[in-house]
Amino acid sequence: MTDSPLWHPFTPMQAFAEERAPVIAAADGFELIDVAGKRYLDGVSSLWCNVHGHRVPEIDEAIRAQLDRVAHSTLLGLRCDVADELARQLVRIAPAAAGTEPLTKVFFSDSGATCVEVGLKMAFQYHRQKATPERRDLFLKLSHAYHGDTVGTASVGGISLFHTLYGELFYKTAAIPSPTPPGYPYALPEGHDADSLPRWALAETDRLLGEHAGRVAALVMEPRVQGAGGLLMHPAGYLRSIRELCTKHDVPLIADEVAVGFGKTGETWACQTEDVVPDFLCTAKGLTGGYLPVAATLTTDRIYDAFLGEPHELRTFFHGHTFTGNALGCAAALASLKKYEADDCPANARALSEAIGERLAPLADHPHVAAVRRCGVMTAIDLVAERVPHRPFPPERRTGHRAVLAARERGLILRPLGDTLVLMPAVGMPVGLADRLCETAIAAIDAATAA
Ligand SMILES: *Cc1c(COP(=O)(O)O)cnc(C)c1O
Repeated sequence: MTDSPLWHPFTPMQAFAEERAPVIAAADGFELIDVAGKRYLDGVSSLWCNVHGHRVPEIDEAIRAQLDRVAHSTLLGLRCDVADELARQLVRIAPAAAGTEPLTKVFFSDSGATCVEVGLKMAFQYHRQKATPERRDLFLKLSHAYHGDTVGTASVGGISLFHTLYGELFYKTAAIPSPTPPGYPYALPEGHDADSLPRWALAETDRLLGEHAGRVAALVMEPRVQGAGGLLMHPAGYLRSIRELCTKHDVPLIADEVAVGFGKTGETWACQTEDVVPDFLCTAKGLTGGYLPVAATLTTDRIYDAFLGEPHELRTFFHGHTFTGNALGCAAALASLKKYEADDCPANARALSEAIGERLAPLADHPHVAAVRRCGVMTAIDLVAERVPHRPFPPERRTGHRAVLAARERGLILRPLGDTLVLMPAVGMPVGLADRLCETAIAAIDAATAA
């Protein structure tokens, strides 16, 4: 039982109250430490945002030094040196490719949801203010997408569990099929095989872009991997094809790199794995090394220029948050980025990914594991009652949750997506920790799936 008044996010509070979740009080490197002194390996990088571990001396020091200068001042009508510098650094590291418009402008906000919502609103307003104005009021989204929990970003989400309830509040969207929906590749919709489904999804996207020509304000997607929807991993070339379809139909592409950015795929940006430059790039989670809530929406001169004009023309982007570009957060982000480059985190992520693949190889013939799916450090382990024929566990058994409890007992923090167990180590985690991560996860799976 808990006597705390705290209402936890995405948490069934009735069950949680019975559960004795650890109370985290400290951390050390890649371990979290609870009030009783028990240590846990942080196997999901504190919900996918931690980059270099906890209590990183360089980041701690940068925040302390910033505290001696200023913790926060507004970006409404004033500049701030660390915010300017972070914007410059983000433009420097943004994905770029010959013959595409570079990402040259940076709008700060506070979370993954806000940086995506900023992209949506900017795209909407852009069409009204561009040289030949248009009223475009529809967003294309992927089925099973997740972009955050504000009403705006929930509108472009596609996880029925989270999003159906609020449907009446949403703005206008049309869903394109995910190329790799839940169950892919072992439980496919009628009439499809593993190759035909992604091809059909692209053909449908082309068709919908044509059908709604002149109405689509933007297409928003998580590049390469749809995270909260179940770590749905797109086939190679899919993102590239979406970029080409957006260009063909003159629809801006919003890439939500909130989860996949900062090295998770083995490249800094998922877009870089397919040489794609979006019209909007959204980044949050890993931006400050997982320390503080800072997010950014990057875009091109073309979009930005549509917002220029005399103040009385009201072409301004009327959006902002009190803590936009918070100085402590920007200082943390600059220190994190410096360490990220010095340590070559993408290279570490690739080595860590390989080690995880090797250590999880024994699951290939586990009777209750349908598949181990991986992209970079993002690892999904699908737990099932039976592999062939494919038979899920009953949802009320909460098998994924049981695995998480079993892992916790063994000193490993994980979090499931339904009955998919997710390993999402920090990209800076030493490769040597892959043994402990994977061995504990396998032991937890054995415990949770036993009859
Ligand atoms: C986590 C996440 C978000 C939302 O980020 P918050 O900081 O929780 O608002 C948005 N998009 C994706 C892809 C995410 O994984």
